[in-house]
Amino acid sequence: MLNDQTGKIWIDGTLVDWADAKVHVLTHTLHYGSGVFEGERAYRGVIFKMDEHHRRFHTSAQMVGFEIPYSIDTLNKAADDILRINKLTEAYVRPIAWHGAESLSVACYHNSVHVAIAAWKWESYFTNGDDNAPGIRLMWSDWIRPAPNMGPVHAKACGQYITGTLGKNKAEKNGYNDILMLDYRGYIAECSGANIFMVKDGVLMTPIPDCFLNGITRLTVIDLAKSLGIPMIEKYIIPDELMQADEVFITGSAAEVQPVAEIGVQKYLTGPITEKIRQAYKKLVNGESYV
Ligand code: PMP
Repeated sequence: MLNDQTGKIWIDGTLVDWADAKVHVLTHTLHYGSGVFEGERAYRGVIFKMDEHHRRFHTSAQMVGFEIPYSIDTLNKAADDILRINKLTEAYVRPIAWHGAESLSVACYHNSVHVAIAAWKWESYFTNGDDNAPGIRLMWSDWIRPAPNMGPVHAKACGQYITGTLGKNKAEKNGYNDILMLDYRGYIAECSGANIFMVKDGVLMTPIPDCFLNGITRLTVIDLAKSLGIPMIEKYIIPDELMQADEVFITGSAAEVQPVAEIGVQKYLTGPITEKIRQAYKKLVNGESYV
């Protein structure tokens, strides 16, 4: 269990024992979701795109109306320290910023802001997500991604994950790995914690991220496709197009590049472009040449 581990967690500039890394039950963010977080992976002891993650952490907080009280450099150093102290090389890294327990008014601008960074081994984000599995199974979500005026949709904000949690609970209880959400217009949006790509006739396509997270892995895959000479477009995608795709995969810092074998009743095989991108991503994050 995650809370039973040992090691240190960085909290507000101090290294705290794993078992003592606790917050008060009246913590504002526990009640109202008023926090932001990040999800990073370290490979061979180096966090992939760490600076981008910590910059997004700052931006997410600004979108939710507060400032992270630590500079990017301080966060970078803290994340590196936490890996080193816990003797981790391959690890998942989770920074989180939250509002304290000074008041339980829905407003939180008078409350203190706290930051923690934890890291642990989290080998595969999906139970059948290893290299030899045929791919993951996605279930259509009952919930949609809201319009940009319905919330800070581009922030990695705690409160926004409720629909992802509801969806992924239902998916796993029904034998699926994750959900696929449409947006408020009926276009393909994203999974509970990952972006989606499809391939049709040799062209890689991914939805325009105008109401969901423009993932760091998504941007990395777009760059990889360019350097590998794979034609790539960002476009609005309707479910029918996705149903006729030759290949589908999802991307995320935790999920990495993960082939999709099923979406609802539709089945897909892992194809050559998915495999090429997946291998290139693996090499890139491990600091190897991929071209
Ligand atoms: N969408 C959501 C909702 C996510 O939580 C994540 C994971 N951070 C992603 C997409 C993928 O983002 P990234 O590639 O930056 O991890």
